[in-house]
Amino acid sequence: MVEAVDVDVVVIGGGPVGAAALAQLAGAGLTAIGFEQETDMWPTARAVHFDGETMRALQRLGVAEQFERITVPMRSVEILNEAGEVLVHANTDRLGSQAWSDHISFHQPDIERLIREVVADSDGVELRSGHRVIGVREVDGAVRVRTVDLDGAEQVTTARWVIAADGARSETRGRLGITGQRFGEDAQWLVVDGQLVDAPGYAADMVQLGTYTRPALWLRLPGTRVRMEFMLMPGDDPEEIVTPEAIERLSRGVLPADRFTPDRRAIYTFRGRIAERWRDGRVFLVGDAAHTAPPLFGQGLCAGMRDIENLVWKLALVRRGKADESLLDTYETERKPHATYWVETAANQAVLMQTTDPEVAAKRDEFIKAHPEASAEPSSPALGPGLHDGGRDERAGRLGIQPILSDGVRLDDIVRRRFLVATTREMYAGLPDRVRAALESDVETVVLLDPEKVSQLLHEAGAAAVVHRPDHYVLGTADSPADLERLVLLIPSLATAAIAARAN
Ligand SMILES: Cc1cc2nc3c(=O)[nH]c(=O)nc-3n(C[C@H](O)[C@H](O)[C@H](O)COP(=O)(O)OP(=O)(O)OC[C@H]3O[C@@H](n4cnc5c(N)ncnc54)[C@H](O)[C@@H]3O)c2cc1C
Repeated sequence: MVEAVDVDVVVIGGGPVGAAALAQLAGAGLTAIGFEQETDMWPTARAVHFDGETMRALQRLGVAEQFERITVPMRSVEILNEAGEVLVHANTDRLGSQAWSDHISFHQPDIERLIREVVADSDGVELRSGHRVIGVREVDGAVRVRTVDLDGAEQVTTARWVIAADGARSETRGRLGITGQRFGEDAQWLVVDGQLVDAPGYAADMVQLGTYTRPALWLRLPGTRVRMEFMLMPGDDPEEIVTPEAIERLSRGVLPADRFTPDRRAIYTFRGRIAERWRDGRVFLVGDAAHTAPPLFGQGLCAGMRDIENLVWKLALVRRGKADESLLDTYETERKPHATYWVETAANQAVLMQTTDPEVAAKRDEFIKAHPEASAEPSSPALGPGLHDGGRDERAGRLGIQPILSDGVRLDDIVRRRFLVATTREMYAGLPDRVRAALESDVETVVLLDPEKVSQLLHEAGAAAVVHRPDHYVLGTADSPADLERLVLLIPSLATAAIAARAN
């Protein structure tokens, strides 16, 4: 027997990933309640950097332009060594393939506030602050979530699914007995945020300081805000190290005590972890509950936003009866290898960039000078196996581009939350009538044939047709009508309709 449900989804945790999940669920037409144990937002920043893919997720929520106004693009990145030599300088101030800058600096509370506003303005979803989740139990066809509020009143909410966005210490993960795989060495770092006025700081907007006496990081944020992160070294006194004088010393004078006003000094343990399972029946782990990375490439929160982008359209299709429940298995198979790549790469890079051994540092510096291209940021990997043609087409399972049209419109604003079939008129005409009819009546798919809209997509794909999923990943490419027919029948709503038609 299937339990009566109160909502489609309960989201545990109202951090940036949980709030984004609620906003995206509302946009996809699902009902949801989020429970957050704290009464207010976390007031200080952890994440400070987003990539273009995350901006696309915000675009979907209709707040990317608003957000862009309170961010700054990161114009340049550098790697410096102990002697202060610039080993690598890269200009990063350009529009990336996602139609947004790939390096955006921001203040985390700003983005959380904006996403929470979207949630508050959306129908069908709400975030209940001051409610702590104390139990999650799967029953027939549903999940019962037990919560307690600040007055000690307990309540049970029944949902079809649970999205656990309850952070790195996720109790849900613990309750389900899910362990984690460890990457690299845990390291303690002092993170200092504040306003730097009348002092130049470093020349570049992001600087990795390969200073073996104390590895560090510099970031220029919106306005006069800056961040520096310093690795803790043996013998550091945790009370002394956060004083203005110590910060001036650790920063080698870049943050002078009389010109830098810190608003946050915190010691973090940076860890590389991947949860061994991301799904347990009707419960899905997302964000830091599923993965944590040393923040070398600023990908932690970006990865959490990708989890949501990957999961929500699948839940929506299953909820509407347009896809088989097995589609939900592809969340873990696709996302886990992708996130693992970033965690592992960051952990490996940390070993080299954050060495405290002078000899290793000297060899590293020589290598970087000889091969500066090797220090370029790694490119994002393909998804793991799942709903895409990756086994036969290496372009499939990779993030697709977002063209900006001649009138300035970004293509996602036309495609919205649908599959996109982009092809030439000739290819489309070659499809059997019944396939074209099915495509044209499918509300989950949009077909674009106008060369102005599709030429960049086809050029990038190097094919006569490309199909993007609602999360902008490439389902596959095709060069013949027969290939395109095979591809569009992978779209769950069309495959389901085809099965139903055969059955009748
Ligand atoms: C110093 C530092 C720098 C970073 N820099 C970057 C960066 O530049 N770019 C980037 O992309 N990422 C960065 N990250 C990572 C990023 O901050 C995290 O990935 C992100 O904040 C995780 O969001 P989340 O919503 O998954 O988890 P959290 O923000 O931890 O939110 C989890 C929420 O769940 C709530 N909760 C927990 N248990 C319960 C319960 N039982 N009931 C109800 N609520 C509960 C908590 O109160 C919390 O609000 C950085 C991290 C650190 C520490």
